[in-house]
Amino acid sequence: MALTEFSIIKNYFQRQKDQFPHVVVGIGDDAAVIEIPKEKQVLLSVDTLVEGVHFPIKMPARELGYKALAVSLSDVASMGATPNTALLALTMQKADRNWLKAFTDGFFSLADRYHVPLIGGDITQGPLCISVMVTGLIPKDAMICRSGAKVSDLIYVTGTLGDAGLALALSNQQNGEIDPFLLSRLHHPVPRVESGIALLGIANAAIDVSDGLVADLEKIIIASHVGAQIVVDHLPLSESLKQTCDLEKAWEYALTSGDDYELCFTVPHKKSQQLEKVFNQLEVDCHCIGEITQGDAVVMTNLQGHSLQIIKKGYEHFSKK
Ligand code: ADP
Ligand code: MG
Repeated sequence: MALTEFSIIKNYFQRQKDQFPHVVVGIGDDAAVIEIPKEKQVLLSVDTLVEGVHFPIKMPARELGYKALAVSLSDVASMGATPNTALLALTMQKADRNWLKAFTDGFFSLADRYHVPLIGGDITQGPLCISVMVTGLIPKDAMICRSGAKVSDLIYVTGTLGDAGLALALSNQQNGEIDPFLLSRLHHPVPRVESGIALLGIANAAIDVSDGLVADLEKIIIASHVGAQIVVDHLPLSESLKQTCDLEKAWEYALTSGDDYELCFTVPHKKSQQLEKVFNQLEVDCHCIGEITQGDAVVMTNLQGHSLQIIKKGYEHFSKK
């Protein structure tokens, strides 16, 4: 039997078994309705993935479903929120059962892990494009913004940097097998939800690294009217990255390549011990890579204090003529 819009929604998107008490009206009506606790505020974020721009043509559907949700979760995570609901707008050329099954398996593997209900969306026909909106909850006015960095704050990042960028570069070269760790960093970024929540009351500013560390840190310093100094020797690099490239190239990936979805955040000196304590309870590490300064630029130095130049800061849309 041919798939209709109705049967696609029913069979593939309306399949979560968990009960979500805050969802008053979910999939099936013109709009969804949710309850919001009085003492909380709601964060809303939407992110779009376009075939050939954000992911390669023929990217496996399961990875795509996973990543479409992961990148949106990452945005609310960077502000310290607990994810609360998701909406999904999907444009695709044709309705293929295997593709839909794999796509929604990937999507719900992550939605179920963070207990996030899919409460609505849209399906249209056209070139493959996926938009996911996520809402999150936060105690009133506790969110961590890009604009909160203060001079002499320490700058930290979670996890390691540059892995996804290297995996993308290797998959574009297409010669031989790619280290599965690197590939998983590209296709299965872990949104740093627990880390973001742990940073509430500790971090002054935060952002998720989606375009590249320098490009994203620049957004913090512009919003906060400060400068930043990064010591490249302190950049956290994975063993796989170090084994695949020489150190200078590894730093370049860590500084400029996007898609890692780690958090970059700033913390006042007096809270650095508290930070270490909370990260000891988490599965992810964080590393201090520099300091917020007076000024208006991101400056990179090595341990000897020599400054380093990079040509490209990160990924930017609309930059190609
Ligand atoms: P309308 O025509 O009123 O916009 P639709 O028929 O497109 O509604 O959708 C019916 C219901 O299915 C709505 O509740 C909508 O939010 C939900 N829905 C549609 N597409 C998706 C999707 N991809 N994922 C989740 N829910 C969806
Ligand atoms: Mg309607």
